Amino acid sequence: MSAENVKKFISFDALPGFLARAAEKNAVYVPRREGNAVVYRSFKAGDEAELGVRPTESCKHVVFPRGEELFSFAREADKEEPGKRRLVLTEASEPGAAVVFGALSCDARGFLAFDPVYNGSGTGGTAKDSYYLRRRNRTLIVVKACKNALNTCFCNWVGGGPASPQGADVLAVEAEQGLVLDILSGEGTAFTESLPAASEAQLAAAAAAVKAAEDSLPKAADVSAAPASLAALFSSAEFWNKESAHCLYCGACTYLCPTCYCFNITDESDGLTGVRLRSWDNCMSPLFTLEASGHNPRPNKADRLKNRVGHKFSYYPSLHSGRFSCCGCGRCIKSCPSSVDIRKIVLDAVKEAANV
Ligand code: SF4
Ligand code: SF4
Repeated sequence: MSAENVKKFISFDALPGFLARAAEKNAVYVPRREGNAVVYRSFKAGDEAELGVRPTESCKHVVFPRGEELFSFAREADKEEPGKRRLVLTEASEPGAAVVFGALSCDARGFLAFDPVYNGSGTGGTAKDSYYLRRRNRTLIVVKACKNALNTCFCNWVGGGPASPQGADVLAVEAEQGLVLDILSGEGTAFTESLPAASEAQLAAAAAAVKAAEDSLPKAADVSAAPASLAALFSSAEFWNKESAHCLYCGACTYLCPTCYCFNITDESDGLTGVRLRSWDNCMSPLFTLEASGHNPRPNKADRLKNRVGHKFSYYPSLHSGRFSCCGCGRCIKSCPSSVDIRKIVLDAVKEAANV
């Protein structure tokens, strides 16, 4: 076994101390219980990480905050032209390095849907989003493989799996009262260098755990025809009215989605000073496309659901080498108050388009 392939081990007893030491150097985010929800929050010595529960939200906000200051502005007296004011802009402070410990494998893959949009490598445009990239490049992701699938999980439909290493710096698999750590990047090597190598028994137990998790997922549906099927149904009001009949356009699906990356820009000012913010937006809301004139190109919920599903399974793959902009986490299904199921919509579209 070469040094690069050595897998590490940390016991659950040693984990709090390890995370506390990491938190002395960088911001460390772990799943933590808040009421009935499990959410990613910063960790400090004495905190408890909820690594055995599927987090309610993804860790998307560590890299793409819900609300982010881009810069501040102030209108100050102009020393060279008395009586006039000039606009002074100040960049927001640089974020520090961060570690997400206990991301789901689907959520780590979710960042792969963000990357080509914000790093300019996709065919949708070449602009780079420096605000996204500086956080993305400074965030180390430790995935904790799932032990079993929920009935809302479908990561295997879209190229993932409960222990997929895609998007992870370290892949942690529960075994023998601890975690076997597969090191996948140079940053992951540095993060885990103080830990001992896993034993043969721990490696075998981890391999068995991965197999059990993969076996718990039902066979993946074939959605390879979805991009063409959804494109064929673009003008079918009948299909989209039927699929969206129960949608309340509450936006829970978009806010919980690890691959939804749309944002809004607002200025918040007080007198002569203020800040420019960007914050998550929600394409299921009629306000998302409402124009200043009052015209709305997506005035009803059928248009908006068509856009959301079409974007993830048709428009995005057409721009980004066939990759779906959905990691199959199932949160939109689990949290929808009206039981709208994106899997059913995609399968219905494939079936319907075959009959058109
Ligand atoms: S969570 Fe369900 S009801 Fe709410 S906007 Fe999404 S699909 Fe519609
Ligand atoms: S569309 Fe639904 S299943 Fe797909 S990544 Fe978003 S929340 Fe998860």
